[in-house]
Amino acid sequence: MAATFELEIATPERLLVKELVTEAQVPAVGGEIGVLPGHAPLLSELGIGALSYVVNGEQRHLAVAGGVVEVQAETCRVLAMAAEKPSEIDSSRARAAEKRATDRLATMKDNLDYARALNALNRAQARLRVAK
Ligand code: ATP
Repeated sequence: MAATFELEIATPERLLVKELVTEAQVPAVGGEIGVLPGHAPLLSELGIGALSYVVNGEQRHLAVAGGVVEVQAETCRVLAMAAEKPSEIDSSRARAAEKRATDRLATMKDNLDYARALNALNRAQARLRVAK
């Protein structure tokens, strides 16, 4: 079996990653998916969180926020609604988004707004984790 597989991470606007990697940890909606070469085929909804992968023994991270992930034996393709590398993350913006969402969550009653604010909070906190 091959020691690597191709990881492709894109948003509708751009391609962020297209590399041969040895492993990846993908935050799916149902929980973390650990991907190694030869993984069984899988299609899942992407969650909000930190996606990590290993290239030549070096671990890298990205913040991702929703989308889909498709895994095949020799490929893992992530199409994310938003994704940022650590160097691209504006931490002040994420902290402001975190505060806005926290304030909204403290005052609201409507369920739909609650889910929206919670997602915004999760996106901001994932960005702050990855930016570190
Ligand atoms: P905000 O309220 O600050 O816009 P958001 O979570 O609503 O945050 P998204 O809708 O997830 O933002 O993303 C919109 C676009 O802005 C995407 O292209 C995303 O990559 C980018 N983006 C959002 N927050 C940041 C950030 N803190 N640093 C860099 N890019 C960001």
